[in-house]
Amino acid sequence: MDRPNQTKKAQPGKLNGVRGMNDVLPADEPLWRRFEDAVAGAMRAYGYSQIRTPIVEHTRLFVRGIGEVTDIVEKEMYSFTDSLNGEDLTLRPENTAGVVRATIEHNLLYDGPKRLWYAGPMFRHERPQKGRYRQFHQVGAEALGMAGPDADAEVILLCQRLWDELGLTGVRLEINSLGASHERRAHREALVAYFEAHRDVLDAEAQRRLHSNPLRILDTKNPAMQALAEQAPRLIDFLGPESLAHFERLQSLLRSQNLPFRINPRLVRGLDYYNLTVFEWVADIGGTPLTVCGGGRYDPLIEMLGGKPAPACGFAVGVERVLELMRAVGHGTAEPQCEVYVVHQGDETLEAALQASERLRDAGLDVILHCGGGSFKSQFRRADASGARLAVIVGSDELARGEASVKWLRAGESGAGGPQRSVPLDRLAELVVEAIVANDNHPGEPEQ
Ligand code: ATP
Ligand code: MG
Repeated sequence: MDRPNQTKKAQPGKLNGVRGMNDVLPADEPLWRRFEDAVAGAMRAYGYSQIRTPIVEHTRLFVRGIGEVTDIVEKEMYSFTDSLNGEDLTLRPENTAGVVRATIEHNLLYDGPKRLWYAGPMFRHERPQKGRYRQFHQVGAEALGMAGPDADAEVILLCQRLWDELGLTGVRLEINSLGASHERRAHREALVAYFEAHRDVLDAEAQRRLHSNPLRILDTKNPAMQALAEQAPRLIDFLGPESLAHFERLQSLLRSQNLPFRINPRLVRGLDYYNLTVFEWVADIGGTPLTVCGGGRYDPLIEMLGGKPAPACGFAVGVERVLELMRAVGHGTAEPQCEVYVVHQGDETLEAALQASERLRDAGLDVILHCGGGSFKSQFRRADASGARLAVIVGSDELARGEASVKWLRAGESGAGGPQRSVPLDRLAELVVEAIVANDNHPGEPEQ
């Protein structure tokens, strides 16, 4: 997001936010809320319950739960030692490990499978660029305790429903199968042999990973190695009948729901506990394909983190990337606007103005009370700039008569540009609500 507050140039003497960590300014709030409401709705529609785990976890959770030879654990974690008790802690780079930790710790699977979802900030020390930040947000779902391709299909359908709900049509599904660990082992041996035979083409990082995590080489972003990766032995050719049956059933379930997908044989996760289904949702952002959501099955993880063995699958959505797509299809970023702006004549009218504002809020209206004094003229300027629909004016003379006045502010509303109208203070809230309702039902008609 190339927005003004996100270009952080160090200026001497000025305190700026941390590079790669962004403020969400009020102008973007409606967009975030729209996204968050759609997520909450989609999760509810599939029977998911929200879980909130801490942002800080023991470093060893991620080392075990993500794997030592991954980009995240090797170079992206914000880890630190708690200076008060010496504990090694890390700002969560993702939330599957935390959710699984909490599931085990609270024995959440005691009475059967659980569908859990989460949302929140994640932290990775990466080079900030469009769609890649050091604090970013993910929304994710974890289907815990379900082994079949039905669960895989369901989490994929959930994603599709979310894109539909947000009006995003260009998000494409890619799937693959990672099979079982013995199948990956056979594939890995073939892969290492293949890359060894082409050592001269491998860059330094690939050479380093050749024996630690050769699958990740397939994921290379180095153009000089693309052709090599393209021709490498394919995992799918090493899958046995059970893994193939799972993969084929997933495909037939997706087809039965008319959900288009592409099999991408190079879609991998370089971690040992991922198995069978993997998927990604890809969209073009500014002409570049970017993954907005990654997911799959991770059956061995719960046991690896000390729980009773139970299968699981899930996904994580990159929120900032989806918001970028939403902007591209024209979701607004208008400031939230309140309905009424209350102006008044200084200290002697303040208590009545406070009182009037409270009564208006009691009636369900959103109200800004002008603070800080000033002439009526300057207060009206603020009222116009606030975007409120109506001004309520509490002046000394009217107050003495037990009245206030009401004035429409926005062009295009009935009564706009017309005179102020006096109303009894004790019926103010009721009359303002009536006027708004009448105006919404018959826009443009003059007020009675
Ligand atoms: P990449 O290969 O692009 O680094 P990843 O495999 O690290 O992606 P996951 O860990 O699968 O990504 O995270 C799921 C989603 O979270 C990604 O598809 C992406 O949309 C989003 N995401 C990951 N890292 C970042 C980041 N640094 N900034 C913004 N979004 C991110
Ligand atoms: Mg990454």
